[in-house]
Amino acid sequence: MKVAYFTMEIGLSENLPTYSGGLGILAGDHVKSSADLGVPLVAVTLLYKRGYFVQNLTPDGDQLELYPLFDPRAFMEPLPLKIRLNLYGRTVAVGVWKHNYKGMKSSVPVYFLDTDLSDNTEEDRLITQYLYGGDDHTRITQEAVLGIAGPQVLKRLGEKVSTYHMNEGHAAFLTLHLLNELGDIDAVRNLCVFTTHTPVPAGHDTFSYDLAREALGDFLPANIKELAGTDKLNMTLLALNLSRHANGVSELHGQVSREMFPGYDIGHVTNGVHHLTWTGPEFKNLFDQFMPHWREYPEVLATAHRIPDELLVQAKLKAKRRLINYVNSFTNAGLSEEFLTVVFARRAAAYKRATLFFSDMERLLNLSKVRVQFIFAGKAHPKDGAGKELIKEIIHEGMRYEGRLKLVYLENYAMWLGALLTAGSDIWLNNPRRPREASGTSGMKVCFNGGINMSVQDGWWREICRHRGNGWAIGDDEDTPDEETSQDFYDVLEDAVNTYYVNQAKWINIMKNSIAECCPYFNTHRMVKEYAEKFYL
Ligand SMILES: *Cc1c(COP(=O)(O)O)cnc(C)c1O
Repeated sequence: MKVAYFTMEIGLSENLPTYSGGLGILAGDHVKSSADLGVPLVAVTLLYKRGYFVQNLTPDGDQLELYPLFDPRAFMEPLPLKIRLNLYGRTVAVGVWKHNYKGMKSSVPVYFLDTDLSDNTEEDRLITQYLYGGDDHTRITQEAVLGIAGPQVLKRLGEKVSTYHMNEGHAAFLTLHLLNELGDIDAVRNLCVFTTHTPVPAGHDTFSYDLAREALGDFLPANIKELAGTDKLNMTLLALNLSRHANGVSELHGQVSREMFPGYDIGHVTNGVHHLTWTGPEFKNLFDQFMPHWREYPEVLATAHRIPDELLVQAKLKAKRRLINYVNSFTNAGLSEEFLTVVFARRAAAYKRATLFFSDMERLLNLSKVRVQFIFAGKAHPKDGAGKELIKEIIHEGMRYEGRLKLVYLENYAMWLGALLTAGSDIWLNNPRRPREASGTSGMKVCFNGGINMSVQDGWWREICRHRGNGWAIGDDEDTPDEETSQDFYDVLEDAVNTYYVNQAKWINIMKNSIAECCPYFNTHRMVKEYAEKFYL
């Protein structure tokens, strides 16, 4: 019997453009750790042949979105199988591709659903073409393909499923499919578990009932409003009502979710990262040498203090050199491997507050004098005008203080660049508006590469941070206004710069604590085991 993991996006490698950010990469890491641990899992997702988008930036800081066509044949095989769905009163054919992810103990098949088939109209061929493109109409259609065709694919392939795991509400139509099949709410609830990732009400997918009826017709049960909300069809409510377990992705996010959806029993499983994917070659070597069982048991990294200081410093320098070489060759920025390197890389969304950074230019320029350099990266969603303005603002600040502030904005933040940045950074900066970062995972990657987090106490970081012990905390364990956070941020950054240049022993100690305290827990081996023990069995 298997766990079927349903996800709207999946980031398995930079070779597959089927992810946009954290949610997808988490799904990929979930699959990888399951395969390493031998957890019997299959995954179902969509094949976006034009992916999310490739980001180019003009010299003036405008984001250009390119959608090159992806050829999947080197990474997956088409299966001789088609599901026919009734959508908008017409038939849409859904094809399936299989990618087999081989882990240390077992393989996990990942099924990619695809409507780009000659049976379909030109319009329907585009249903699965773009990730998070289009409007509500496209979105509900994609979610129908995932949630309604998905379980039928598994059945036709003979996969015996004992648990359906919905990664976010996008897949919640599968509960209605099961309800049609089994005719009994309790039977459906017994089969389903649900992970929510969204800490704000507006982030949860909702559709008008008019649109839902138009798209899905009598697939919707008569009591749909009891299951999914009276005003709109809320995918999160639907999933909550038809799951035997529900969880948020960090302790704080679990709390926030319970407040958002009172009356539901929502726990938490804090996210992790797949350590074998996100540890760069330099630290892989180091860990192999001093903690050889870390690949199978990342918890042994708790003994990171046995790594000799010189080797740790050398490994970090080597990883940083890879990053600096890349940046210099693309941007002419003349960054130095000797400078303290602060990286801010994440989705360009307003709540991530990238521009807090510039609120006191004098203090920032003073820091720049003492050899600090800053690297930014991140895509804005094509429809997020405010996000695009943020990118532009950062690039313009860089130009305005050219020569006085070492700052670059790199294009096309994606898995490959994410790995390079998390491996090469000394400090990984994160100042979201609390509690908007449900968990965050990029800072965990940093720990596996001897980097140090400097972050607001949100998501995963508030569960482990010890200020000036294993990294830096910006602010206390509470929600604070922007001005307060920005003052704290400069204080903390000045302290870190001082530590880096004046007290190397202390810096190395923080590096080691970051590895020893964060890595044993914030990995997907621990996370998948937790899901298996709490939710799958
Ligand atoms: C790890 C990673 C993310 C997730 O990062 P957070 O900002 O911590 O949510 C997003 N995008 C890429 C490319 C990543 O590698």
